[in-house]
Amino acid sequence: MPSAPDLLIQSATLLDPGGGNQDGDPREADLLIRGGEIAQIGKNLSPENVEPFDAEGLTVSPGWMDMHVHLREPGFEHKETIETGTRAAAAGGFTAVACMPNTDPPLDTRDVVEFVKERAEGQPVAVHPVGGVSKGRDGEALAEMGDLAEGGAVAFSDDGAPVWDAGLMRRALEYSRMLGMPIIGHMEERSLSTGGHMHEGAVSARLGLEAIPSLADDVMIARDVLLAETTGGSLHVAHLSTRGGVELVRRAKARGVPVTAEVCAHHLALTDRAVEETQFSTNTKMHPPLRSPEDVQALKDGLADGTIDALCTDHAPHASFEKEVEFTAAPNGIIGLETAFGLIGRELVAPGVLSLAEAVEKLVAAPRRVLGLPVPRLEEGRPANLTIFDPDERWTVTEHDIRSKSQNTPFLGAELVGRPVAIYNRGRMAVNDELRLAKAA
Ligand SMILES: [Zn+2]
Repeated sequence: MPSAPDLLIQSATLLDPGGGNQDGDPREADLLIRGGEIAQIGKNLSPENVEPFDAEGLTVSPGWMDMHVHLREPGFEHKETIETGTRAAAAGGFTAVACMPNTDPPLDTRDVVEFVKERAEGQPVAVHPVGGVSKGRDGEALAEMGDLAEGGAVAFSDDGAPVWDAGLMRRALEYSRMLGMPIIGHMEERSLSTGGHMHEGAVSARLGLEAIPSLADDVMIARDVLLAETTGGSLHVAHLSTRGGVELVRRAKARGVPVTAEVCAHHLALTDRAVEETQFSTNTKMHPPLRSPEDVQALKDGLADGTIDALCTDHAPHASFEKEVEFTAAPNGIIGLETAFGLIGRELVAPGVLSLAEAVEKLVAAPRRVLGLPVPRLEEGRPANLTIFDPDERWTVTEHDIRSKSQNTPFLGAELVGRPVAIYNRGRMAVNDELRLAKAA
């Protein structure tokens, strides 16, 4: 890696909910980066020969992590590559992502996990592969989990598909306990969800679409909570979307079961009515589906009371030729990295569901705590791993804001609150806005 350029971030509001600044209250300061490390934090720093970056009016926090993305490489490079996916992550303010194993070949062997890590080397966005629970993600036989861990996997999941076999899940959780790594559960009981294209409720009844009941998620969450409780293995509930699921996780945590959970930004912003309102836009089709307003409220309550640990995207790129088909034939998923923070600002911070510090904690510390990764801090002597953002900017999403190889988002034209400006990590800066790029270059 070329030697890291020194940088002086001036007049920033520093926000580190878990750092030395105990109460998480933001403070105004300059931040000097030398050799990729935070060399000094203070007022009116004026080192010689250091490029300044004017952060007046901007907030700097430790770098955010999205613990649930699909980078599609290897095998589906027409949708996304590690390069384009990390570019989208940087634009969204993320300095780290965990990528799911439903590639081709899947991330179920050590060499594929190592391939992904190698492809991401030298990027400002760290890529942490999630290894498969089962070989071929077909739920028949356990993958070599110890091997995957040695290759750099940070967790295990068959995401995109559930681990339908309870016995296999039990053994996976037993290994997970021994390895000290979580199993990330795609919660879907397929005998209940089979054939469904959207949330089962009044809207699906009106539209006459085959639908997925909340029960499909809840039954699997209940099963896996019991298995985690019995085995002591750590269970992380992926893309929690139902009121029943929130309550199951809340009760499990209360009795000490090692369970954590995440919610995707889009599940906080849209309901099943979006399918009807957009007249079956395939960018309202994902798994789990957009749920009811009552579910969205339960998710917000779960974030506010700590039941839900982390905020994520489930960034799922698909090419336009794949999405521009009949609703019932379209693949599940939308991209999310570029719009996540603005949705979090609009849905959580602006209405006071979470404070900004609480939202940032769910982007910085929570995902890394779940995955057992070191949590970056705004402290002198630490590696400079940070996100620079405007927490208040109102902006409208255009195609220009999308850095992913795919464009499948329902949020083009949406007004969001809060905008990432730049990230700095591994001695590299990635700046969103071209004007600022010229300024910082
Ligand atoms: Zn999933």
